[in-house]
This record gives sequence, structure tokens and C-alpha cells, in this order.
Amino acid sequence: MTAKNHAGERISQRSAVTVDASGFSRHVGVRTGMGKAFHRYGFGAEYDMYAPYYPQDELYLIMGSRFAPRGYAWAFPHGDGRVRLGVGVIHPDCDDDARIYLDSIIRDVPQLTEKFKDASPIEFHTGLFPSEGPLERFSRDGLLLAGDAGGHGSTLVGEGIRFAIYSGQMAGSVAAEAVKAGNTSAAFLGRFDKQWRARFGRDMDISYMINKRIANYSDEKWDDALDLMKRLTPSQMAQALRGDFSTGLVMGVLARNPGLIATSGKKFLDMMLERINTPAVQMVER
Ligand SMILES: Cc1cc2nc3c(=O)[nH]c(=O)nc-3n(C[C@H](O)[C@H](O)[C@H](O)COP(=O)(O)OP(=O)(O)OC[C@H]3O[C@@H](n4cnc5c(N)ncnc54)[C@H](O)[C@@H]3O)c2cc1C
Repeated sequence: MTAKNHAGERISQRSAVTVDASGFSRHVGVRTGMGKAFHRYGFGAEYDMYAPYYPQDELYLIMGSRFAPRGYAWAFPHGDGRVRLGVGVIHPDCDDDARIYLDSIIRDVPQLTEKFKDASPIEFHTGLFPSEGPLERFSRDGLLLAGDAGGHGSTLVGEGIRFAIYSGQMAGSVAAEAVKAGNTSAAFLGRFDKQWRARFGRDMDISYMINKRIANYSDEKWDDALDLMKRLTPSQMAQALRGDFSTGLVMGVLARNPGLIATSGKKFLDMMLERINTPAVQMVER
């Protein structure tokens, strides 16, 4: 590998196993044919605000064409009067610029105007988040892809930090085992794929199924979806947002929304159940 150090000097490093954790750029993976550059992605723009009147126990998810076409906007408090306020839109499902929507949210979402009184931005972040689901393989001879580089984040709500940490830990452990065993072949490193799929494969596949479906929602469809969500218990809603899918959750959603049985929503829940009940090994050997 060649890299630049903190002073911009080029350095070369030989390693038995390399972990590409370069995020959205998937720098090594793309150059070694482990996957193409991402084609579908969330384009996010976010302020970290000091907002003294924002209630720290409230978070907002804002959907609809006016503030977040093909995506959603968020207000996530994180202590000490700070709130992250952002918008993410999915490309190429649309070609909108998330930055354009950001300022209008504070100004024009009536529920937020008072809460952001006297607020001021401290940081501004923009970035891209892969929205294609995981790669088919994350390992080859001497190379592993972890975090966003492997498409390991949840496409449900564009959550990647927790999953980058988990997959980085998993990749590090497998790399260490391979070095100890003196075997850094694709066959040995394939343990990483198996472990990751066993732990996350089902939930990430379902998250991606949902992402593709809701990215096309019209405003009317979002109103219907909100009616459905309002009938969920807080813990069901939290479980769904965490992307922690189980038969119990799907049955619970149906029990609270019996009207779904007569709609296309039921067909979708059936597809989810089918995926939930497919063993991880079967999915690996596709
Ligand atoms: C606006 C926005 C808001 C987000 N909010 C949340 C959130 O609230 N919660 C959440 O869970 N996720 C959030 N995400 C997603 C989350 O940021 C990512 O999923 C997560 O950071 C992925 O971690 P990673 O380590 O895989 O990649 P990254 O965090 O992208 O880290 C990759 C690192 O590799 C470096 N790098 C890349 N190429 C090279 C190279 N050639 N040489 C040297 N270094 C290189 C980069 O500079 C970077 O430091 C958000 C994303 C965006 C864009």
C-alpha cells in the first residue's frame, strides 16, 4: 500500500492483510475490482447547532417533497444544547441538492421554528452515504472491506457509524486470525463475509428493501405511512428504526394495522417475513 502521512509525504507499507475502511470512496476496493464506485447514495447536509430552546428529549424525522424529496430530514439532539439538523436526499432517484433544503427547515417547518429560536450553527457537514446494500463479497486475498466501503451501513435511515464500528472490529479480528494462522487467502478471509452476514445480513437486506420502497413515496403515501406508524408502540417504532427486524415485529405491525391485510403493504410484509426466515448460509451461497 502507498499512503500519505500527516505531513503529506508518501509512504509505502507492506501488509499481510489490508482493511479498506476508506468510507464512501472505497479507495482500495474500487482499484482492486472489489466493487464499483457507488452509484446510488444519500447526499446529506447537516448543521450541528447550538439551540438553547430545543428540547433535548425530542427528535424529529421529516418526510415529504417540500423538505426532503426522496429522503428525509432530521433533528437529533445530542446534549449540552446541541442539535444536529440535517437533510438527506437519494441520488440518482432525484438530483436535488440537500444543502438547498436545509435552511428552509428551520424557517418553514412550523413545529421547529420556536425550538430553534436563537439557535446558531457551530459546524456544517456534507457527505455521501452508500445506498446500494452490501457488496456481494467483502474479502479477497489479503484484502477486506469494512464500514461504508463494504456498504455495511443501514440504508433504512442512513445509519452507518454503529455498523462501521461493528464491521471494523469483525474485520480486525479476522485479519488477526489470518495473520496468526499464516493464511491470508480469500478462502480464510471469507470468514469475515460469513460472520457479517450471519449477524447483519438479514436486517440489512430488509432495510434496503424498505429504502427502495419508501424512496418513491408520494406525500399522500407518507401520510398513510404516518397513520400506520402512529399505531405502533414506542418500542415497536424504536425496534423498526434500529433496523432490528424479526417475525415478532412484523406480526406486531400487522396486529396493530389489520387494514394492511387488504393492501399491497401486506405483500411487502410477506416478503420481509420470507427474508427473515431465510437462513444466513443460504443467502451467502447465492
Ligand atoms: C451528513 C451526514 C450525516 C450522517 N449522520 C449519521 C448519523 O447521525 N448516524 C450514523 O450512524 N451515521 C450517520 N452518517 C453516516 C456515517 O457518517 C457513515 O456511515 C460512517 O461515518 C462510516 O464510517 P466509515 O469509517 O466506514 O467511513 P468514514 O467515516 O467515511 O471514514 C473513512 C475515512 O477514510 C479516509 N479516506 C478516504 N480515502 C482515503 C485515502 N485515499 N487515503 C487516506 N484516507 C482516506 C476519509 O478521509 C475518512 O476519514 C451520516 C452521513 C452523512 C453524510
